[in-house]
Amino acid sequence: MKHTFEEALDIFHYPFFKLLRTAHEVHVQNFDEQSVQISDILSVKTGGCSEDCAYCAQSARNGVKMPKQPLLDLETVLEAARKAKERGASRFCMSASGRCLSSGAEFEKICEMVKSVKALGLETCVTLGFLTEAQAAQLKKSGLDYYNHNVDTSPEFYSQIVSTRTIDDRIKTIEIVQKAGINVCSGGIVGMGETNEDRIKMLVLLANLEIPPRCVPLNKLVKISGTRVDDSNPIDDFDFVRMIALARILMPTSYVKIAAGRNTLSESTQALSIFAGANALFSSEKLLTVDNIKDNADGKLFDKLNLSIENPRL
Ligand code: SAM
Ligand code: SF4
Repeated sequence: MKHTFEEALDIFHYPFFKLLRTAHEVHVQNFDEQSVQISDILSVKTGGCSEDCAYCAQSARNGVKMPKQPLLDLETVLEAARKAKERGASRFCMSASGRCLSSGAEFEKICEMVKSVKALGLETCVTLGFLTEAQAAQLKKSGLDYYNHNVDTSPEFYSQIVSTRTIDDRIKTIEIVQKAGINVCSGGIVGMGETNEDRIKMLVLLANLEIPPRCVPLNKLVKISGTRVDDSNPIDDFDFVRMIALARILMPTSYVKIAAGRNTLSESTQALSIFAGANALFSSEKLLTVDNIKDNADGKLFDKLNLSIENPRL
């Protein structure tokens, strides 16, 4: 069923407690409300990117001084994946900076990483920019479970955030990934100067894809000095919870993930978000280039909320 912007706008503006109740009901119909899925993420290739994404420290076009890190070797990646598993992660994500990876030695090494991480008993995810059909097929053969490719914002606001590609280019890659039989992880960033209408339009776009993403990460912008959006207004906490609730209602069977910026949300806002349907988190201390959760803060929060961690679905 296709969703309309008007329907989604109406839901987003429900009285707050009605919205929470509606979203929570959808959540318990489709998932165990006491369980969260945990991922860890590692930047396997960092910086020097030719794209001009306004939020990103890794774009060579932004004024951020970030040392370039070429592709990590397999043993370093496996060491990080083992630690992730010890911390309770069921999925390990590997991220490479860049518009795309050309087929060749680097791509082969990524496939090797996917195979080896999977052999540790973890679900695998990579995010490498654009993909060809042949690359998607090779990743699937290597055991890839998820491909992350965020649409980032609404179609209307997109050109203010990225000019080196279009949102339709992103959707094409999502379709290539799905055709290869790989789950898609796709969401966006909030707090870059977009309106609530833009945020709602982004969720409607994701929900209306032929196959909605299996996982929908919502990143709260981590402001990086030198980027083009480093002075934008942060999203209000209640609007953030409303977004989570709307994502849950529009995409009942997708995992809704609180991704970057979680360390700026209070425990209470995280608890409200989880009640509203968020059921996936990143546990790593770093998310690519920025800080995430420290000192076992999640363990303490999970105890307070009686949450358990989901096992890998291999
Ligand atoms: N180059 C690949 C791509 O663009 O798909 C993968 C790496 S990219 C860094 C992965 C995602 O991280 C982006 O799509 C974006 O949503 C998120 N991200 C990057 N910088 C961020 C920031 N400063 N705050 C919040 N999320 C951010
Ligand atoms: Fe490059 Fe990805 Fe960062 Fe955009 S988000 S600048 S494509 S690394």
